[in-house]
Amino acid sequence: MTDLSNRHSATSRRKLPQAGGARWGTSESGDDAGSFVAQHLGSWEQLLEALPDGAALLDERGVIHFTNSHLTKMTGYSRDELVGRSVQLLVPPHLRAKQTLARRERSRNPNASFIWSEEDLSVLCKDASELAVDFALSPLEVDGRSWTLAAIRDCSSRRASERARADVELRFRVAFEKNMAPMTFTDADDRIIAVNDAFCQMVGFNRAELLGRDSTPFTLPEDVGITEETHQRMLSGEADQERYVKRYLRKDGRVIDVEVLRSPARDEAGRIVYFVFSERDVTEERALAAQLSHQALHDPLTGLANRALFEDRLSQAHARLVRHGGVDAVLLIGLDDFKGVNETHGHFVGDQLLTSVANRIVEATRATDTLCRFAGDEFLYLAENLESPAEAELLAERLIRVIAEPFAIAGTRIEQHASIGVVIWDGSSTNFEETIQNVDAALREAKRRIPGHHVVFTPSMHQRAVNRFALIQELRHAFQVGQLEMHYQPIADLKTSEVVGFEALMRWRHPEKGWVPPNVFIPLAEQSDLILELGSFALREAIAEASSWGRGQSSSTRPYVTVNLSSHQFLDRGLVPMIKRMLSESGLESDRLILEITESVALIDIAETMTVLDHLNQLGVGIALDDFGTGFSSLSYLAALNPRIIKIDQSFVRPARESVRNDTLLETIISLGQKLHMTMLAEGIETKSQFARLRRLGCELGQGYLFSAAVPTSEVEAMVGLVFGS
Ligand code: C2E
Ligand code: CA
Ligand code: CA
Repeated sequence: MTDLSNRHSATSRRKLPQAGGARWGTSESGDDAGSFVAQHLGSWEQLLEALPDGAALLDERGVIHFTNSHLTKMTGYSRDELVGRSVQLLVPPHLRAKQTLARRERSRNPNASFIWSEEDLSVLCKDASELAVDFALSPLEVDGRSWTLAAIRDCSSRRASERARADVELRFRVAFEKNMAPMTFTDADDRIIAVNDAFCQMVGFNRAELLGRDSTPFTLPEDVGITEETHQRMLSGEADQERYVKRYLRKDGRVIDVEVLRSPARDEAGRIVYFVFSERDVTEERALAAQLSHQALHDPLTGLANRALFEDRLSQAHARLVRHGGVDAVLLIGLDDFKGVNETHGHFVGDQLLTSVANRIVEATRATDTLCRFAGDEFLYLAENLESPAEAELLAERLIRVIAEPFAIAGTRIEQHASIGVVIWDGSSTNFEETIQNVDAALREAKRRIPGHHVVFTPSMHQRAVNRFALIQELRHAFQVGQLEMHYQPIADLKTSEVVGFEALMRWRHPEKGWVPPNVFIPLAEQSDLILELGSFALREAIAEASSWGRGQSSSTRPYVTVNLSSHQFLDRGLVPMIKRMLSESGLESDRLILEITESVALIDIAETMTVLDHLNQLGVGIALDDFGTGFSSLSYLAALNPRIIKIDQSFVRPARESVRNDTLLETIISLGQKLHMTMLAEGIETKSQFARLRRLGCELGQGYLFSAAVPTSEVEAMVGLVFGS
């Protein structure tokens, strides 16, 4: 505005030069003002046209005598429409009162230039729109008459940008003050110049306690340095934005972790004028992350490292060995017959025992070493920086002794023994998997040869492990190329000697080794998912075969088939739908299918077992409890499983030594089954006397070489309906 006013004050003092002829109409009032314009202004046209603003020359009554083309452009009126009219024409109704006041003001000081610039000032255009303007009014004295030169500046774009700036400011204020994220501004010396509500809430101080201070009051003393360092780094231009985590000290004394993003604001010369901090309380987030990473790396039962963490420690140890040399050892501690504890005392006691064993190992070893729960009843231990390989062996024996001390758990005294596999490690074996395989091979060797002791790994064990692995590969291949087939062993009614069913047993016809028995390859397959494929194969084959047995006979006399299920299979969710599909595809009546499970299958997850049994029961498929007498046989448990058939294990039928005690055992088992209304089946009958005795004891069914070993499919049909011995 100043330049506008200066310019007009300057003009006001000039004498107007002679004008060269009238060009702009005459006033409506018809006074001689028109002639003034005609006389004087003609030569000023150029001057007024050169102004960047609209211009109008007004007489004392406010009648327009001249306008320049800027004004006509601004307002939309032509010159003819303006000249001779009162300036009121251009004043919007809402400004008329103000205009009157302004005129009164001017009249008190008629010779002064007057600048009228207000937020809402505008001219009324021809199309009734309003245009934001500022006015500068300059008095002119010509021939004793007073004139006013009005300069009218279009300031619509300036007002718009002023409004925009105000808007931005407002938005910024709201965004800053009401932001959920705590924020602070500090000056170049790092003194607080502004904080928002969220920040005050986060640190528990109010604005007055913070403004003008540095961050010391709300920073944990140990972390004050962090703020200072970042401040220095920014001032020196080393960093342009920094993100860091710092511990804050709330007014109430609580310590919180805060993630801070500090950015400098610079002026045009690049100097830092202030700093903006955006902060985030990450206390809970960090606690959660710590907990999650703990969970991801630790065993939930014992709190020990898990496999992943152990693997990591092992690779660190390996790097150290390679650099500095020395001897480390990896121990795999396996609990002997831990399954027995679970079966006898239940899982709760089993879990407690595992935790107690873990604690004993921890207490007996160095805190810097790593102990990991590796599998259900196995622990891995990494012993670092040993004096010699002998030290690892001493450690293993010590651990075996420590674990062998009786435990008292839930009021029960439990003795638990351990065997240990040891790998002496000098850094030459690099691979985690290989180390684990080796230590596992050593433990297997210990369990096989000298349970309750330790065995140090030797390459020959590796060979055995490699062989085992090779055998799995070979089995997989055998399955794919059709070397596996099902054979069937007849089940006889001991009263009539008639064949009533068959047990399906898997056989591997090895191109070089001949028949490989399932005792060799089923446990192998059970160590991987291969067992699921083998199991479905056995089911599919047996169901399809059995559907054709005794065609033409009434269904009540047609033989049933029993199929062995391993625990993986039994707990596989796909089992029931798969059996349903196989039954409907083959047409086998569901009551002619019996699944053989062992007690250990059922013990893995009782609730889940019951659900599966329930579904099978609804299907009409029966259950036979296999190898009865070898596991932990609880009566309540047996009643819950409610199998159609109980298969008495061969060890009762063919005991190592004939004895009265064995006789009583067999009798007891058979009478037990009878009382529970379950059909008893004796396995492994090889002699006539065994057969006769079982029949006498009231055992209903039997299997064994006395009748027949398992035979290939082609020989089954000849046995259907057969009566042995007839
Ligand atoms: P199991 O279920 O207890 O099967 C009975 C085993 O005893 C069979 O051995 C059978 O041939 C054998 N046997 C039958 N009668 C006599 C006898 O009078 N005297 C003697 N000494 N043995 C007799 P096999 O076929 O070698 O099967 C061994 C084990 O392999 C089976 O024990 C079963 O646990 C498993 N198995 C076999 N086939 C399958 C299958 O398809 N799936 C699953 N999951 N396991 C199977
Ligand atoms: Ca069986
Ligand atoms: Ca059996």
